[in-house]
Amino acid sequence: MKTSRRSFILFSISAASSLALTRGASADAAQVSETDPKAQALGYKQVASTVDKTKFSNYVAGQNCSNCSLFQGKSTDAWGGCMLFGDKQVAATGWCSSYSNM
Ligand code: SF4
Repeated sequence: MKTSRRSFILFSISAASSLALTRGASADAAQVSETDPKAQALGYKQVASTVDKTKFSNYVAGQNCSNCSLFQGKSTDAWGGCMLFGDKQVAATGWCSSYSNM
């Protein structure tokens, strides 16, 4: 086996392993619960349209975690990190009163 071919195979195995570990870690990440004290303080809801609009009048239809500037997932991810919740993940469909789109 030529060195370049061997290197390519080793690189491919390494890349596939890294991807599997990354996906596994992401899938295992804890999800923020609406009953979490911090989530309650911020008015976090897993589905933005269920936000208590009388309590959080700054909510505007169409706002959700996936288009918030604090969301750390990709726009296509169902769940992703949020700068406010440490290593827990928020739902892409969620919302809280710290929503920002700057
Ligand atoms: S700060 Fe943004 S991403 Fe985080 S929970 Fe609130 S709306 Fe969602």
